Amino acid sequence: MSDPMQRLAALQARDLPVHGGRTLAYVYDSGEPEVDRVARQAVAAYAASNALDPTAFPSLLQMENELVGFACGLLDAPESAVGTVTSGGTESILLAVQGARDSRPDVVRPRMVVPTTAHAAFHKAAHYFGVEAVLVPAGPGHRADARAMAEAIGDDTVLVVASAPSYAHGVVDPVTEIAAAAAARGVRCHVDACIGGWVLPYAARLGRAVAPWTFAVDGVTSISVDTHKYAYAPKGTSLLLHRDAPLRRPQYFASAAWPGYTMLNATTQSTRSGGPVAGTWAVVQHLGDEGYLALADRALSAVDAIVASIEAQPALRLVADPDSTLVALATDDSCDPFTLTDELVSRGWYVQPQLSHGDDDASIHLSVSAGTLAHVADFAGALSASVAAAREAGPVTVDAGVVAFIEALDPSSLGDDDFDGLLAASGLVGGSAAGELELPVRMAEVNAMLDVASPSMREALLVAFLDRLQRPVRGVGG
Ligand SMILES: *Cc1c(COP(=O)(O)O)cnc(C)c1O
Repeated sequence: MSDPMQRLAALQARDLPVHGGRTLAYVYDSGEPEVDRVARQAVAAYAASNALDPTAFPSLLQMENELVGFACGLLDAPESAVGTVTSGGTESILLAVQGARDSRPDVVRPRMVVPTTAHAAFHKAAHYFGVEAVLVPAGPGHRADARAMAEAIGDDTVLVVASAPSYAHGVVDPVTEIAAAAAARGVRCHVDACIGGWVLPYAARLGRAVAPWTFAVDGVTSISVDTHKYAYAPKGTSLLLHRDAPLRRPQYFASAAWPGYTMLNATTQSTRSGGPVAGTWAVVQHLGDEGYLALADRALSAVDAIVASIEAQPALRLVADPDSTLVALATDDSCDPFTLTDELVSRGWYVQPQLSHGDDDASIHLSVSAGTLAHVADFAGALSASVAAAREAGPVTVDAGVVAFIEALDPSSLGDDDFDGLLAASGLVGGSAAGELELPVRMAEVNAMLDVASPSMREALLVAFLDRLQRPVRGVGG
């Protein structure tokens, strides 16, 4: 028998670091080792507990109710408010859409009015639940266009959506106007505060300008906020709050239509690990209101420093002035954004490329954590060196023949062999020697190719890519 922890450590060494404040997407680092220790212990203690049945595991019910209670304070929730702990932002959004749909059984073809800047989770919900997303182009500054959204509300509209802030641009939508328009038509309004919900209330307390977006805004009926983002909790929790219990009721599912236990769920999962719940509860207990105020101050100060280092580079510009802890930056013609991304990654700064979309140029996304503040001088140096290297390297060009080829293809007409060829040509799928995955290190060429592809072609190529990544590795147990 081999020591699994040894192999685990070797495997994990290939991943992005979750500590050190330099991974600016996917993970959120408080910079405090004690937060991690508390989270790890609580997750381990509850890894086998099952939140499926709150009467069997009442401690998990207690922790969930305390978490929702804490969030009520952050979100200006009225006494009537209720909430649910889910597995993540996408699940919170799925449930908000499903609940809105099922609150209107009279509507045969339900629709939701969604700004184009809203998170892809709303498209997933549309796909899962048969709710058509009516996409409304964003207005100036990448904020949702409240008037156009109001005009898009019809008799079939079951939900109106706003972001606080949007992921790609980091700006808060005009929630007051959007929620008022929804309320005037008797339609639910969900605020997606998955990424900003645990930061914006503290930003306001720190004296920064924050547009209204909470339950204090009339017409807001539900809010999602991800604890596994800026509550610095371990992965696997988000909260979905409703203004009152009747709004939540369609989200519940019960089934006595089989011979076993009567199934009773508030979320899409049934068996649910107690680990993430306990880990999140422990981190929130440990940090508390004062702890989060200090962490928000640090994260926002890090944003200020990063903004200054971007503004010091003539080749770079901010896509929007950050409303919270998200930064989107774009480049001028002298600096290829995908090469800049690779250069930053090679200097230990993981940043996330965003492909061009509609009228938006390709850009680079940064989710800035409290743990980043200690390293902002290093970031400024890495950014400066990366811009110089990207300018030196020149633009990544995609062969004109390849562009014409990709533009001519209809992804729905392609078979597996075609995708094998395309993936090999794009450099996405390399060899996989002895069961060890080989992923491309430099992504600029891949991103440049995806960038010229249509959205449906990007989706098809990446689905084909994932399909080839997810293949069984046999004969390695024990
Ligand atoms: C992260 C995020 C989501 C989705 O959350 P997951 O936890 O990744 O499922 C939804 N909306 C916004 C604004 C987000 O930032």
